Amino acid sequence: MIKLHDLYFKPFISEKEIAAAVERMVHEIADELGDEIPVFIGILNGSFMFVSDFVKKYPKPCEVTFIKLASYEGVKSTEDIQRLIGLTQDLTGRTVVILEDIIDSGNTLTEVHRIFENEKVKQLIIATLFYKPEAYKKDYKLHYVGIEIPSKFIVGYGLDYDGLGRDLPEIYQLKTTQHMTNLV
Ligand code: 5GP
Repeated sequence: MIKLHDLYFKPFISEKEIAAAVERMVHEIADELGDEIPVFIGILNGSFMFVSDFVKKYPKPCEVTFIKLASYEGVKSTEDIQRLIGLTQDLTGRTVVILEDIIDSGNTLTEVHRIFENEKVKQLIIATLFYKPEAYKKDYKLHYVGIEIPSKFIVGYGLDYDGLGRDLPEIYQLKTTQHMTNLV
């Protein structure tokens, strides 16, 4: 039987490569933070798989929460970032580590910094599993990067194409977007 993702997604980054990148990031961040108890904040929806795998491997006590932002329309990043679920806890004096699934233009990251402008956190650390250096247009420092990729749309491991593909355990590149909705 032909599966939807065989038709439209071509394999790009394997589960093994993703797991190795996540593990490396876990160790780098744990080494930097020592015994401090960080608050990991995942950016929904795309980061749910990354955050889950990351915190399961994190070797020390930590807190985990999420905020929900949306910028993408189909395969295009827009500057209009909507804050759908914001911060719900007081983070004064805390070390906050943002866990992003992917950084593309950096528009979402700008909104993240805006959210933290008035929060008196001890430090704000940015960690992203995937990063498109050619597309990034901002000056914010990215403290931890998992895998650098070309400026092409990817799907899987939490990242979707109009709702599809989030469940895939590996990363695919999009072959074509034509007729996709006719199949579901
Ligand atoms: P930015 O705001 O940096 O342009 O993009 C960040 C957000 O856009 C990510 O959190 C993610 O939701 C979405 N995004 C960026 N690039 C991709 C991509 O290649 N594939 C998918 N599925 N989403 C992406």
